[in-house]
Amino acid sequence: MNKRIATVQVVENIHAINDAQAEKLRARLDAAGVHGINLMSAPGSGKTTLIEATLRGLAGELAVAVIDGDIATTIDADRAAAAGAVAAVQINTGGNCHLEANMLAPALDRLDLAAIDLLIVENVGNLICPANFAIGTHHNVVIASAPEGWDKPYKYPGIFTGADVVLVTKWDAADFFEFDLERFSTGVRALNRDVMILPLSAKTGEGMDAWLGWLTKNDKEQVTKAI
Ligand code: MG
Ligand code: ZN
Repeated sequence: MNKRIATVQVVENIHAINDAQAEKLRARLDAAGVHGINLMSAPGSGKTTLIEATLRGLAGELAVAVIDGDIATTIDADRAAAAGAVAAVQINTGGNCHLEANMLAPALDRLDLAAIDLLIVENVGNLICPANFAIGTHHNVVIASAPEGWDKPYKYPGIFTGADVVLVTKWDAADFFEFDLERFSTGVRALNRDVMILPLSAKTGEGMDAWLGWLTKNDKEQVTKAI
């Protein structure tokens, strides 16, 4: 038996099983009228800080629940709850470097989906494998922070290829870190021609209106004009 072929088949089966589970989760969200987004980035890009600012910005407009995936701790879910999430559930992956659909199912069981408009899933900080595992959400939001540099779409093409929105966080620090938005955008657009690229800062609030506008209206044209 050819060992290499056997390995490839196992990987294909894992993805097929995951995709089928993700479809079931999406059906649950659809039935409850919940918009689900999968927030992906490297560690330290400001995902949790952005979630906090998003929760404050959407207060009184949308009921938002947050599911946080981390290898350990409940720090991020605690922060989301403190910032106004109607519910915050932590998934500890026990070492796994990405979320998979089967990990989300018990987390959804703990949410009152009928009372939620928007579900933000904060994936494990990692720019590689989270892109390969659907988790039942409707949109992929990929974050690259200005301090990380302009080269991320060139080094991690997979995650940018599947993005519906690309956020450049910590935009207030872009000059200091000499972030080259043109080279970054060129790299993103080579992979994903029409994706929205939004520079923003949770700290100063710059760009937050466009981000919140996309979340509330899902209006691509309006967001593009706002930038
Ligand atoms: Mg976090
Ligand atoms: Zn992984």
